[in-house]
Amino acid sequence: MKNSSSWLKSVKYQAKGVLGPEVTLAQEAVPGFDQSVMNRLRVLLIGAGGLGCEIAQGLLRKGVAQLKIFDGDTVSLTNLTRQYFYESDLGKNKAICLGKNLLNEATRKTEIIAYPIMFQKGVEEKIDMSCDVVVCAPDNDKTRASASRHFLNKVPVIFTGLDEEGTTGYVFIQEPGKACIACARPDVTESSIERNPCRQAAAIIDLGKIISGFTIFAVDSAVMNRKRDWNFRQPFMAGYLPETLKTVEKRKGCQICGKK
Ligand SMILES: [Zn+2]
Repeated sequence: MKNSSSWLKSVKYQAKGVLGPEVTLAQEAVPGFDQSVMNRLRVLLIGAGGLGCEIAQGLLRKGVAQLKIFDGDTVSLTNLTRQYFYESDLGKNKAICLGKNLLNEATRKTEIIAYPIMFQKGVEEKIDMSCDVVVCAPDNDKTRASASRHFLNKVPVIFTGLDEEGTTGYVFIQEPGKACIACARPDVTESSIERNPCRQAAAIIDLGKIISGFTIFAVDSAVMNRKRDWNFRQPFMAGYLPETLKTVEKRKGCQICGKK
C-alpha cells in the first residue's frame, strides 16, 4: 500500500472473537445461510455513517473474515444518536473510530482495516481494493457512481442510502453482468454534486436499523443461497406508501454500464 503522507495511513485491527465455534449455531440454522462462506468473506465498506455503522456491526456479529472501511469524515456530536461512536471519538476520523469500536462486536477473528479517506481518494492512491463484496453506504451519489464503475462486472455491490427526511431509504444490489446503480437510479452520475447532507438532513436510528438489516441480508443473498426475489427495495416507515420491491433490469444507454 502506498502511504504518501501520514493522514492516509490505514489502521489494522484484529478482533479476537469469542471462544467456541458453537457461537454461530443459531444463524447456521437459517435456511441458505452458510457459515463457511461467512468465515472467508472479505467485505469492503464505503461510508461509516448511520448506515455504515449498523451494517458493520451486523457483519462483525455474523463473523465476516475481513472488513475494509473507507471514510474521510470526522465524528460530530449529532452522529451520536445513531452511529457507533462515543464522546471520546468526537472530532476523530470515522473509519478509524468505527474499526476500534467494532472490536467488541466480533464473534470471530475478524480483521478490520480502516482507511481514513474517501473511496475515490483510495482509488487514486491505488489502495488494495480486493474483496468479495462491496457495501456502498456513502452520503452522496458521486461516490456511488464511482464505486459502481470501479467494481462493475467484478464483485457484487450493495448500494444503500437514506432520504433527507428520515422517512425512507433503499437497498439495491448490483451484480456482475446485471443492472447497475444507474440503471436503477438514473440520477446517479459521477458529476452528481458532492453534497454533505449530514449537516442539514434529518436522520434517526430506527430507519437506519431497518435499511441496514435489508442490506446485510442482501450481502448474504449475493454470496450464498439465502433466497431473494428482488434487487431493489424501498420501505417507508409510516406505511402510507406501499413498500417498493422490484427487480431492476439493465437500462439501455445507461451512463455507467451502457458504455463500452
Ligand atoms: Zn447501468
